[in-house]
Amino acid sequence: MTLVQLPQTKPLISGEDYINSLRGRKLKVYLFGELVTEIVDHPMIRPSINAVAETYNLAMREPDLASTISGVTGKQVNRFLHIAMSRDDVVLQNKMQRRLGQLTGTCFQRCVGMDALNSLYSTTFEMDEKYKTQYHQRLKNFISLVQEENLVIGGAMTDVKGDRSLAPHEQADPDLFVHITKRTNEGVYITGAKAHQTGCLNSHWLIVMPTMRLREKDKDYAVIGAIPVDAEGITYIYGRQSCDSRSLEGGNIDQGNANYGGQEAMVILENVFIPNELIFMDGEFDFASMLVERFTCYHRRSYVCKSGVGDVIIGAAATIAEYNGVDNVSHIKDKLVEMTHLNETIYGTGIASSYQSQATRSGAFICDDMLANVCKHHVTKMPYEISRLAQDIAGGLMVTMPSEKDFRSLEVGALLEKYLKGRADIPTEYRVRILRLIENMTLGRNAVGYLTESMHGAGSPQAQRIQIARQMQIEFKKLLAKELAGIKEHKQLTSEISDYFGRIFNTKV
Ligand SMILES: Cc1cc2nc3c(=O)[nH]c(=O)nc-3n(C[C@H](O)[C@H](O)[C@H](O)COP(=O)(O)OP(=O)(O)OC[C@H]3O[C@@H](n4cnc5c(N)ncnc54)[C@H](O)[C@@H]3O)c2cc1C
Ligand code: SF4
Repeated sequence: MTLVQLPQTKPLISGEDYINSLRGRKLKVYLFGELVTEIVDHPMIRPSINAVAETYNLAMREPDLASTISGVTGKQVNRFLHIAMSRDDVVLQNKMQRRLGQLTGTCFQRCVGMDALNSLYSTTFEMDEKYKTQYHQRLKNFISLVQEENLVIGGAMTDVKGDRSLAPHEQADPDLFVHITKRTNEGVYITGAKAHQTGCLNSHWLIVMPTMRLREKDKDYAVIGAIPVDAEGITYIYGRQSCDSRSLEGGNIDQGNANYGGQEAMVILENVFIPNELIFMDGEFDFASMLVERFTCYHRRSYVCKSGVGDVIIGAAATIAEYNGVDNVSHIKDKLVEMTHLNETIYGTGIASSYQSQATRSGAFICDDMLANVCKHHVTKMPYEISRLAQDIAGGLMVTMPSEKDFRSLEVGALLEKYLKGRADIPTEYRVRILRLIENMTLGRNAVGYLTESMHGAGSPQAQRIQIARQMQIEFKKLLAKELAGIKEHKQLTSEISDYFGRIFNTKV
């Protein structure tokens, strides 16, 4: 088997190594209708690169949290590239995600790839069992290559989807879902577009996957493969974020969080070639739903990242209360308690899902699907309420404040300094900075990561409700009620009860 050639020869270790590895690539990226020559130096893109760089720095600073020993290579690897082979491995993913949310206050972009690798690991294993294919070994070869080099993987699942009531093969334009356009002895060519791709430009590889359950007529849409980010035939169109152009104005106050941001772009694939050794599904449409469900299972509890971001916003709200001199007021304290309660509820369900992990037939561990969906469903709501309370505590100045240039102006700067003072012992600039951070997280660039990504990322709210409905075991719960009410029916619910206890007490494998 031919192994793919990787762009780097030395493993990336620090955040700086990682940033340098992104330089000089031949990417076709459009932003404001123009080609970007070097993403690393673009002021609007750089904060998103810095956020990914933190995943490298954390592995150096806290190796027990953000790195581990790979079951594939036997070497120390970044946790984002590791296949979870124990319950602790799954739990530690969540702990690392909360920490990185705290450090960046935004989306650090590396979890989609982690969850794609993990869900593919068990899905390819079961595909090979059924079809005697070679996908699992190919995937392991790929994992070992990216682990050796410590690369970033983007997970490209969401198609643009056209008319949502139609299957891929029923669309007026066949390219609205990514599909195979040509097969050769060497591999396949794919065409289509993936929307909302987190960190795609900041990745070294993309893994393209189907977005939904597929039927036989959708066979050409059942394709999974790894593609270098700079492969021929890919065009990226950068996604705008609220207030993103503040990064082009100079200064660092008005951005709120000048160092870190998220990134989404549209990825257009025009006859992009995937060689055989990087194809992990080709036509096995009956495994698309297993892959999507396992991916969303991991990814929905990955959203505990938002509890780390929530820690920052709670801290920001408490800080502005202090700067305004109202930190000891009872309703402010109560609002901070409410914010914390909501934030810990997100974390509690996510980490519980990870603690309830079970082994798949491949040996990889997967978290509990019901609790993962409950976690993500909380995430579609609670950050909005936390943000509402932060805005309440912040006061109106958060959205009426003059610009950094006005604060620096010789004419009006001193007036703003005088009249926007809060507590006498706190510099006005501190007050302005913390208000800008709250604006950034609840209305600006990082509101994409904290709010709308919380709503739609890893599936819109209804997608979780469907999964919850599938697993809510209403017949079992009715039986419990009927037993206590003294209603005797002759129903055999033994297997349902054993399934229920298997899930709750982790005895079902
Ligand atoms: C910030 C952000 C980052 C993301 N990152 C990634 C990423 O890295 N990789 C990736 O692959 N994806 C990513 N996503 C995509 C995410 O998974 C999708 O946004 C999500 O699945 C919803 O799809 P959509 O945005 O196309 O919304 P739509 O499909 O247009 O949904 C809009 C509404 O219509 C409803 N709806 C849609 N179709 C149906 C239907 N058939 N029946 C009933 N109701 C329907 C939905 O429930 C929702 O309420 C990201 C999204 C965001 C916002
Ligand atoms: S939204 Fe959270 S889970 Fe998803 S990639 Fe960003 S940080 Fe990771």
